[in-house]
Amino acid sequence: MDETSQENEDLRRRLREMTAEAANNENILKRTQARELSLLRADTLAQLLRVMVDGLRESYGLDAVSVVLLDPQHEIRHLLLAGGDRPDEFKQIFFVDSLVGLAPQLAALHKPWLGPFVGADHHLLFPGSANLKSAALVPLPRKDRATGALCFGSREATRFTRHHGTDFLAHLGAVAAVCIENAVNRARLLRAGITDFLTGWHNRRYLQQRLKEELARAQRRAGTIACLMIDIDRFKSINDGYGHLAGDNALKEIAHRVETQIRSMDTAARFGGDELAILLPEASAAEAATLAERIREVIAAVPFALTARVERYLTVSVGVASLSPGRHETDLKAAADRLLADADAALYRAKALGRNRVQLGAG
Ligand code: GH3
Ligand code: MG
Repeated sequence: MDETSQENEDLRRRLREMTAEAANNENILKRTQARELSLLRADTLAQLLRVMVDGLRESYGLDAVSVVLLDPQHEIRHLLLAGGDRPDEFKQIFFVDSLVGLAPQLAALHKPWLGPFVGADHHLLFPGSANLKSAALVPLPRKDRATGALCFGSREATRFTRHHGTDFLAHLGAVAAVCIENAVNRARLLRAGITDFLTGWHNRRYLQQRLKEELARAQRRAGTIACLMIDIDRFKSINDGYGHLAGDNALKEIAHRVETQIRSMDTAARFGGDELAILLPEASAAEAATLAERIREVIAAVPFALTARVERYLTVSVGVASLSPGRHETDLKAAADRLLADADAALYRAKALGRNRVQLGAG
């Protein structure tokens, strides 16, 4: 073969290789676009995390996928909990205080790292996955730093090597990071609208919405619904005497003690400043009064630590009301208002009678 035909042959071979590589790249690009779309479409934070782990593993045919998320304030975990999901069920998601520690490459991950799986370096990232041979660690960039990483593991040694291009992966990481930030923001807003930050309980708006739903249910079942309105006695004096922080802590502790007494089906809400409301579906007035008395006792029985040195006894007054919405009741909003007003009137009487007591409303 002369020199020209040798050159021709080389060129043809090179062209075949490039065509194959282009087809392969196009294939990856298509899959990546489809995967990115599914990330963008996820409705909730939990769903997004599932798509990231299970979806990416399936669509890329990987042997292991995990996600490291920087969550030093435990906010993402708490948002998942608030959404009714259990963070410990997301076994492939690591919520970490710092990116140092899980794998040496994570500490300064500015672009995707691809290379051989090294047990000593990477086993923490892929618990339960045996025989991994190569790995890709893809940063989740926000502003100019990584807020976590997508971690891919493969049993093929040639799947991820430092000779592979990383643009696709870098892009996927950037899209995933934006999706996470959006989902976290959405979850934050959703929660802020119905949650009281101090106690972690629901707020008044949520209670009123819930009350309407529970009244409709009580009406269908010809049942009764009860409500407790709890107000701390002379709470202002705690703030005045020991500061607002001491007041905040006392309020949290009161909420906590109330929680230990109620059933899981009950709804507890911070109704206003030092006023708490409990909704008791399927409870009679007498049962609600018994619960109210128990709550009054657990609060009055043990002093509250207001500061490192000061302990004080606190008491609450409780108004109880109940309602059995009849079949003819068409305005459930009015029925809800009536129940709350009755409980409030009973609370007012408890205050007027000297506080630290339970009073039953008209009902
Ligand atoms: P009583 O209910 O027995 O009539 O007396 P009170 O001193 O508790 O009076 P009132 O219920 O009118 O006052 C409630 C006080 O609760 C006033 C307000 O500053 C305080 N408060 C409301 N929200 C908070 C809060 O989030 N933190 C703290 N520390 N104090 C709060
Ligand atoms: Mg009060």
